[in-house]
Amino acid sequence: MARKLLLENAHIEGIRNYDVYRKNGGYRAVEKALKSMSPDDVVEEVKKSGLRGRGGAGFPTGMKWSFIAKPEGVPRHLLCNADESEPGTFKDRYLMETVPHLLIEGMILSSYALGCNSSFIYIRGEYMYVLQILEKAIAEAYANGWLGKNIQGSGFDLDLFVSPGAGAYICGEETALIESLEGKRGNPRMKPPFPAVSGLWNRPTVVNNVETISAVVPIVNDGGDAYAAIGLGKSTGTKLISASGNINRPGVYEIELGVSVEEFLYSDQYCGGIKNGKKLKACVPGGSSVPILPHYLVCKTANGEDRLMTYESLSDGGFATGSMLGSGGFIVYDEDQCIVRNTWNFSRFYHHESCGQCSPCREGTGWMEKVLHRLEYGHGKMEDIDLLWDIQRQIEGNTICPLGDAAAWPVAAAIRHFREEFEWHVNEPKRCLESNYGLVTEKVFEKVNA
Ligand code: SF4
Repeated sequence: MARKLLLENAHIEGIRNYDVYRKNGGYRAVEKALKSMSPDDVVEEVKKSGLRGRGGAGFPTGMKWSFIAKPEGVPRHLLCNADESEPGTFKDRYLMETVPHLLIEGMILSSYALGCNSSFIYIRGEYMYVLQILEKAIAEAYANGWLGKNIQGSGFDLDLFVSPGAGAYICGEETALIESLEGKRGNPRMKPPFPAVSGLWNRPTVVNNVETISAVVPIVNDGGDAYAAIGLGKSTGTKLISASGNINRPGVYEIELGVSVEEFLYSDQYCGGIKNGKKLKACVPGGSSVPILPHYLVCKTANGEDRLMTYESLSDGGFATGSMLGSGGFIVYDEDQCIVRNTWNFSRFYHHESCGQCSPCREGTGWMEKVLHRLEYGHGKMEDIDLLWDIQRQIEGNTICPLGDAAAWPVAAAIRHFREEFEWHVNEPKRCLESNYGLVTEKVFEKVNA
């Protein structure tokens, strides 16, 4: 049975409440840190653990923390990025609504390590009911002396605030999140300066994802070495994966990094295989912005090795034959799903969410959406496929923030691996018809003609 560090107590009735959380070992890590560890000791344990950012980028957390500037007399801030909006990704929501005190405990530990006395959780506006759960848990933490002045007599003060976004995906980008928290439109900032030097109100700021901050709790409890002993190579610890699509058991799973994709996809402990006995067509392993993998590259790499759920193995082969672990949004497609329609759907999302500051993203996402729409609806031309390829090439690497890349990669991968399906939409458009489910197949067309 796989070890769980974050969801270990998720099944306990009432674990959302302070008393039950505390009775089951909650706030033990804060007690330990405040009594027997200096802030630098906590940073050191996180460095030893090898923990990497769980929001998508996978940057080493301890290293990110060590970049924070420490000018004399200037407050520093920790911001928790709970603006989880990537299509296919819903693991932070589950973590916050199930064990909210774990995140609060992680916020206290991380704020202590970074020397922050006021920290913020920025939560996506659509998660309003989760915000209420967090607010209740924060009130319980204040009432029991884990937040506020002189926490548990340690001399450490921390105020924790939750702030909702207004429903913009772009506010998951850390500088857009900072702008939004300052009360402005959530436009990403040009970098440098980086938030570690000039972030919230121009003060040194660290932005970490919900899962990353929560993982600091087991790291402090058991030590960085124990955390690093789980996983494989530079992919240490456990990872939450939100699995969706045509599988038997969709949901949020905590895996030990290093488990094979085959086991994750087919074992009853996790996804339980493809629904209705259908064949696997493709998989997006890390949320909508990472490249899609065709069925023959999902469980094996191009070299024929087992594909593993690690940062390294999922990206093996680069974008030619690999993808990314990303935010852990594992989306599975069976043989009946239309890749052109799926790509159009993703493009529609990125066009809608582009903040419009830079032309390649603002204009390019719009053009990709238009061209994909006409291909999907049977009005495309063969040249459109090359046009799409050119547009995504003009976007990638030419924008202020990573949303441009996130919009370009799914289009590039879909054309790279499923070009025939795009051609088929031009040559025989009726083979792909809109069904009640919004998706289509040759079989649907056969039924229509029967
Ligand atoms: Fe805005 Fe897109 Fe440019 Fe990011 S890449 S700053 S979302 S226009």
